[in-house]
Amino acid sequence: MEEELIQIKNTAVSLILDILDRKTLEEVKLQFLGRSGKLTLVIKEIAKLPKEDRPEVGRLANEVKKAIEDTIANQELRIRQLTDQESGERKEKIDTSVPGIKPDIGHLHPMTQVLMDVVDVFKTIGFQVADGPEIETDYYNFEVLNIPKDHPSRDTQQTLFLDTRKSKVVPGEVILRTQTSAMQGRIMEKIKPPVRAIVPGKNFRYEQVDASHGFEFWQVEGFLVDTSVRLTDLFGTIDYVLRKLMGEGIKLKFATTNFPFVEPGVDTYIQCTVCNGRGCSFCKQSGWSEIMPAGMIHPNVLKAVGYDSQKVTGFAFAIGLSRLVTLRYQMDDLRLLTNPDMRILEQF
Ligand SMILES: [Zn+2]
Repeated sequence: MEEELIQIKNTAVSLILDILDRKTLEEVKLQFLGRSGKLTLVIKEIAKLPKEDRPEVGRLANEVKKAIEDTIANQELRIRQLTDQESGERKEKIDTSVPGIKPDIGHLHPMTQVLMDVVDVFKTIGFQVADGPEIETDYYNFEVLNIPKDHPSRDTQQTLFLDTRKSKVVPGEVILRTQTSAMQGRIMEKIKPPVRAIVPGKNFRYEQVDASHGFEFWQVEGFLVDTSVRLTDLFGTIDYVLRKLMGEGIKLKFATTNFPFVEPGVDTYIQCTVCNGRGCSFCKQSGWSEIMPAGMIHPNVLKAVGYDSQKVTGFAFAIGLSRLVTLRYQMDDLRLLTNPDMRILEQF
């Protein structure tokens, strides 16, 4: 039996030392030390030996068992070290010949790109840039611009009113601005003429959204007040600015129109770049797109901000920025500008 035990030990140890994975190691452990393992079965036989032989054989059996258990433990440790080392090597392996992954680089939205161009053009002719609140009072959005409460033109500006029922504000007095012209009064109250300013910003109207209208749209408001400013100065400014922004080849036309805050009022049309004047859904089949309503500032507006309307005159205009962007890039739908689809945005 002693010989048998020694043989079990030798077989087990040499077997275990060759194992390099945990699963096989576990199997071999069971094969020798399990309930019906080779060593376990031999140990059970010890009870059948003559009484005097049992202590000696029992001691040997324990030694064999311990030797196998120790070898298994050491081998487990070795396997673990090997796998750790391997995964470390895998991490460190860098193949510098493999082409790199290009990081996605963002860029400015077409609206921002065009807005920056607009600002640059106006800066070269002496305009300053101002910013104003999107939540505006009825006074600056309408009253100061010669649009009293009962004026019919209020109907055309589908106004969004803020719910002020839980505050001390008179209902209807706080609105989302419908036009960046709201900044005219705020600026003119603070600055004495001469003044030249543009105000880029978002406006809000309760409008039916279609290819050329949005409930939220960008405008660049601008105005100039000085002594002896004439309507021809306005035409010249619009012509200069739009040719700088849209190219020398564009076709423009002016038409008379009516806004309460200007007298006379001028509507600027640019030949539709989507259809080149042939007529399409974007220009409502007219071949022209309204791009820049303008006019000479009404004396009532000048008076309301404390200017002397006998001494100074001025003109004001508003560029429909969203429309300018769509016309510049021949986009046939304004809604594309607020679409987050990368396939659209990547083209600019
Ligand atoms: Zn068109």
